[in-house]
Amino acid sequence: MEYDELVSNILKERKENKSDRFNPPEVDVQQVGQKTVVFLDKLSKYINRPVSHISKYLMHELTAPGQIDDNGKITLGGRFSMRLVNDKIKQYIKEFVVCKQCNSPDTQMNKVDKNYFVKCLGCGAEYPVGRIK
Ligand SMILES: [Zn+2]
Repeated sequence: MEYDELVSNILKERKENKSDRFNPPEVDVQQVGQKTVVFLDKLSKYINRPVSHISKYLMHELTAPGQIDDNGKITLGGRFSMRLVNDKIKQYIKEFVVCKQCNSPDTQMNKVDKNYFVKCLGCGAEYPVGRIK
């Protein structure tokens, strides 16, 4: 599926289930041997951000290698607790989802060249967000 198509599907879904409270689901975390599996599917849909981008952030923050599979699941090399992973997710949401102008979570992220921009559907603000190395 094309990224744009994915985004518009997600937006449609969000409109249908629109709730006034922004309450992102906690992500499930399973430790398997020396690896940690994180389930990002539900969260990704809820916050309208691609699994690949959230994964990249987690890998960077936890300095762990990771592998994404088709079901929105990422396997990280190393053992990380559910608490730690969810703390990172909260940081991600603050950095890449919630509008820095008005705190609305109703935002879109667009990629222009190699840079990401967040556009707020509440107040109309648009600003660049950092690239994850
Ligand atoms: Zn805003």
